[in-house]
Amino acid sequence: MKFYSDNHHSFVYNIDASHLIQNENVEVFLPENKDDIIAIVKKAIDENKRIICRAWWTNLVGNCLPSDGSYVIDFSNYNAVIDKDWSSITLQPWITNDKLNELLRLDGLYFPVVLWSHASAEIWGMIATNWAGMRAIKYGKMENRVEELEVLYVDEKNEIRIERFSEEEKDDFLWSEWKIWIVLEAKLRVIPLPWKTSMEFKGFEKVKEALAYVIDVKSKNTSDLSALELLSPQVAEYLNLEKKYYILVEYENEECWEIKDEEVIRELRGKRDACYAVTINAWYDQIEDPEINIENAEEFFLFFEENNIPIFWHIWIWVLHPHFKSSQKDLENKMYALVQKLWWSVSWEHWIGKKKWNYLSEQDKKHFMEIKLKRDPTNRFWYE
Ligand SMILES: Cc1cc2nc3c(=O)[nH]c(=O)nc-3n(C[C@H](O)[C@H](O)[C@H](O)COP(=O)(O)OP(=O)(O)OC[C@H]3O[C@@H](n4cnc5c(N)ncnc54)[C@H](O)[C@@H]3O)c2cc1C
Repeated sequence: MKFYSDNHHSFVYNIDASHLIQNENVEVFLPENKDDIIAIVKKAIDENKRIICRAWWTNLVGNCLPSDGSYVIDFSNYNAVIDKDWSSITLQPWITNDKLNELLRLDGLYFPVVLWSHASAEIWGMIATNWAGMRAIKYGKMENRVEELEVLYVDEKNEIRIERFSEEEKDDFLWSEWKIWIVLEAKLRVIPLPWKTSMEFKGFEKVKEALAYVIDVKSKNTSDLSALELLSPQVAEYLNLEKKYYILVEYENEECWEIKDEEVIRELRGKRDACYAVTINAWYDQIEDPEINIENAEEFFLFFEENNIPIFWHIWIWVLHPHFKSSQKDLENKMYALVQKLWWSVSWEHWIGKKKWNYLSEQDKKHFMEIKLKRDPTNRFWYE
């Protein structure tokens, strides 16, 4: 097992995709098997250290940032496939969304939760944040795809325990962003590889027209609908498209929509995948993820248009991604005040992490801590 405690590694392991900046002292472990992991946790208990797990650090809210003096476990050397059949695969941490699908494709299978960061986000990070992704309309979130989990946790007597959990207990651990235990193995539900896809990509001058089109799509037979996305004119401009609102519809069916050519579909998917990067490049580096439903959409779009805020929106699962500049904290706060006024969720996809804690209501904070301490009574996995 590799171990680092130098300044260079401390620096690297104090970063994730949230852009929160910190500089805490940490010690970094890269385990290769279960015995290594048990040894690290035992050492943490003996020396009274906090533990923070780290996958590919693409989370956007600072939820793998360590506290001062903690142990960071980097799982990049812990990555075996344990078992697979036609409906499931059981594996150890550290396999990216894309790599998993490359592996499954050899057997004509597919893991249908696909994130915008599919090239780098890794399966355990996805479980920890209960990933939704682009095809959630049809296939749901990670919670709908995880059949079993093997986890390591520390009980109230500081004893190390390893247990396998089935579906029933999932709610608690999905709520807690994994600040309660270490995931050792997961059994994931897979499907046969979908063969046929068609798309539609339409531009609209006004958001009202774009929203009317969404309602029209909804009124059609939707069982094959696998993605429905909106891009704002600003994002379209960054993608070198005409400055309009765009709706992208994806179907797992060749009959429904006009675009069937695989090359064109690949190009459109490429544009969709690039939204985050091009918007960041325009200095809108803070991505948010409130839940907004179509009935309230116009009020929000007015706010975004007035303030020149670029957005893209996973309609249907209602996750909106407005981007703010770091200097626009006041606008970000105003948006969350609007979200809370309308009783929508402040985080539907990226979870809470260090970044969103202060946006939670007191009631939600209490709920979060109750779950957390029930599962991790000695607070071994907290990051504050
Ligand atoms: C370009 C881009 C696009 C994105 N698009 C989406 C999107 O469409 N939908 C979406 O939901 N998110 C999206 N995200 C956010 C991010 O990719 C997800 O939050 C993802 O789940 C994080 O995965 P990761 O492997 O990088 O995990 P990390 O960021 O390394 O960690 C995430 C959490 O998992 C915990 N963890 C990791 N491994 C373990 C383990 N073995 N045991 C216990 N806990 C563990 C960490 O402590 C942390 O709390 C996007 C991010 C980027 C940069």
